[in-house]
Amino acid sequence: MKVLKFGGTSVGSAESILNLKRIVERQEQQVIVVVSALGGITDKLIATSRLAMHGDERYKDEFTDIVHRHHDMIDSVFTDLEQCRILKTDINKLAEELRSIYYGLFLIKDLSPKTLAAIVSYGERMSSRITAAIMKDAQWFDSREFIKTELKHGKNTLDSELTAKLVKDAFMANDNKTISSKVCVVPGFISTDKNTGETTNLGRGGSDYTAAIIAAALDAETLEIWTDVNGFMTADPRVIPTAYTIAELSYVEAMELCNFGAKVIYPPTIYPVCVKNIPIIVKNTFNPENPGTIIKNKVTNDSKPIKGISSIGGTTLITVTGLSMVGVIGVNRRIFTALADHGISVFMVSQASSENSTSIGVRDEDADEAVKVLDSEFVKEIETGAMFPMHAESGLATIAIVGENMKHTPGIAGKLFGTLGRSGISVIACAQGASETNISFVVSSKYLRKSLNVLHDSFFLSEYKVLNLFICGIGTVGGNLIEQIRAQYDELMRTRRLKLNVVGISSSSKALFSRDGIDLSTYRKALADAQPSDMRRLVNEITGMNIFNSVFVDCTASEEVAGIYKTLLEHNVSVVAANKIAASGDYESYRKLKDTALRRGVKFLFETNVGAGLPIIGTIGDLCSSGDKILKIEAVLSGTLNFIFNEIAADVPFSETVRRAKEQGYSEPDPRIDLSGKDVVRKLVILAREAGYKVEQDDVEKHLFIPNELLKGSLNDFWKALPSLDNEFERKREIIERENKRWRFVAKMDMGKTSVSLEAVPVGHPFYGLEGSNNIVLLTTERYREYPMQIQGYGAGAGVTAAGVFANIMSIANI
Ligand code: ADP
Ligand code: ASP
Ligand code: MG
Repeated sequence: MKVLKFGGTSVGSAESILNLKRIVERQEQQVIVVVSALGGITDKLIATSRLAMHGDERYKDEFTDIVHRHHDMIDSVFTDLEQCRILKTDINKLAEELRSIYYGLFLIKDLSPKTLAAIVSYGERMSSRITAAIMKDAQWFDSREFIKTELKHGKNTLDSELTAKLVKDAFMANDNKTISSKVCVVPGFISTDKNTGETTNLGRGGSDYTAAIIAAALDAETLEIWTDVNGFMTADPRVIPTAYTIAELSYVEAMELCNFGAKVIYPPTIYPVCVKNIPIIVKNTFNPENPGTIIKNKVTNDSKPIKGISSIGGTTLITVTGLSMVGVIGVNRRIFTALADHGISVFMVSQASSENSTSIGVRDEDADEAVKVLDSEFVKEIETGAMFPMHAESGLATIAIVGENMKHTPGIAGKLFGTLGRSGISVIACAQGASETNISFVVSSKYLRKSLNVLHDSFFLSEYKVLNLFICGIGTVGGNLIEQIRAQYDELMRTRRLKLNVVGISSSSKALFSRDGIDLSTYRKALADAQPSDMRRLVNEITGMNIFNSVFVDCTASEEVAGIYKTLLEHNVSVVAANKIAASGDYESYRKLKDTALRRGVKFLFETNVGAGLPIIGTIGDLCSSGDKILKIEAVLSGTLNFIFNEIAADVPFSETVRRAKEQGYSEPDPRIDLSGKDVVRKLVILAREAGYKVEQDDVEKHLFIPNELLKGSLNDFWKALPSLDNEFERKREIIERENKRWRFVAKMDMGKTSVSLEAVPVGHPFYGLEGSNNIVLLTTERYREYPMQIQGYGAGAGVTAAGVFANIMSIANI
């Protein structure tokens, strides 16, 4: 004999109840089917009670809805009209009783726990009637006749002995065999008080418990819990989309997970079947072929130290503290006795070995009462100052990681707290029992989701590593980057097991966010329709999302955007910047950003600030961290200037080359930004700093080739005045041509001393043959002294810059 329990979702729709029928009819042996109310009905019964109690006439509509749900279900499942009529008459009888209770409630306006218990019982009473009718020759039982409770500490508690006896009486024939009906249908959840006979229940989610009680009393072969997911999963699948089904769990593991909020099984369910060694199988009504999860005594082929993660929100931590507690025996006994006497359950305890404080975790709804009880228990000690009044902290959540193999595996706690620390989550209290099957800890509620995600990722997965990206700026670089990510997405999933999830995109005026990822093929349209945005909203959304493994990618040149890096890094968001402003701004701010990143365990990367996609900054970093010292840097870092000085010729005057650079997109729209050397100065400062020297932009010696006056005034004036320089350039050009030299705008750093200047380099110099808008960098180091290291290639262009940003992102993924 087996007991099969079907939850609310398994009797929520015509489709699901027909699945239930097929599953039950397939069984070879006798089955007892325990059913919940139709999905959502218990909630609705309670909500309707509240309306009636407040004298709100709308309760009538809600009540009518409830009856219609049942009628509709009957109409869509039964084809035999006569059967429909009989069943509806049955349901209507119950509905009429319910209507009278609601009306009484409406008149009296007082909702006692007893009345509420009577009201909610109709959910299971009606659903079980329908379920029994759908099966051929099924026998219906009223569980209130054999599930018996008594009031203890103000709570209805099962009388297990009496119940076991009554269950046997109900289902066993005289010959000590179960009764002959092949299918017995029983409403879950409901019970009666053993003294008064009044209807009670086993608590929300209690149908699981009903099924376990019956299975244990009748020594069933198995208890099957049929629900709407493929079994017991590594975490709540509604919070962790990558959670997967656990094939086997031990009773202890299941109990630990359920006690900490794994809603899939009501916690008291495990114990009765565990005592009788009856396996529990959790299966999906909507996917019966899936093997689901088996919960039993001994688990085979189990190598994972952690089996699952679960959590409960609404936690309050009460701290009992005082200097007189040290070494005093009996304080803890008094704490727990006082709380137990008031029916308050404690689900976590943490005491430091110094013994001067004990923290206990209770549910928010019990917190006020618990503080009152403890303050009064220790009133004398508080008066004398030996102990402090109770301190309660709410707004917390408790998380547990569970697995029996933990005890054979060192380093689990290290991994747990390391993972949380790297994600910027601080642990407020923690506890691990000596049995080592559970480590529980308390965090601020706002970190609950993030904690679950990072831990799940670190302990179970990951099938995929997920990196969450916020991309700011959709101009040429940002647009190219998004295109490259879109093109590489599948390949990275397949070959690197990396999922690049773009969770935010912003332009200068709008921003779009989606925790599940933005569709990159349609983002421009979505962004156009998105809400306006400014820096404050950007920061609030990003930090508010509190998402793990996240990277802010700045593809703008905006000072405002650079201004938010520090806050983001403080919130454990890595920053990848194509924007040079932060790394080349004042040295103190640059240092602060680097230090913040280091302290928070995240990255601040800006490889494309110099030489676009060329690996210059990364190489300098690698050399320095491996113990080399950068002595000298000589470089051509402006693609624009290189283009201009490569173009200049007898028949192409200087002013014309500038015009061409502008027209062909090699220069900034205002070419003075390039001609003034400002851009090169910034790049040089960044390289010098990364090489370990403290340099400001003002420290760079600047030998410019354009008179200062030309750099002031309007852009129009500039274009007008530019040809006035042509003669002088041509004169100098002829000279260097005769000497067989070429102009290069060279940036130099020599042991921290920096300069930029236009130089004429001879044939044979590494800079001489530099083509087009290419960049080149020579690094002279202690190890590369005689022959400097050379890095050369495209130093500008949206495609290579975006690729450089992409490479930085990949280095954060660290796969
Ligand atoms: P039923 O109506 O069948 O009793 P419940 O809603 O009580 O269903 O429980 C099933 C739900 O529990 C799932 O839909 C899932 O969202 C949630 N859940 C939470 N934690 C877990 C977990 N660790 N494994 C599976 N489901 C979980
Ligand atoms: N119907 C009850 C509830 O919703 C019991 C159950 O479904 O297990 O809590
Ligand atoms: Mg349930």
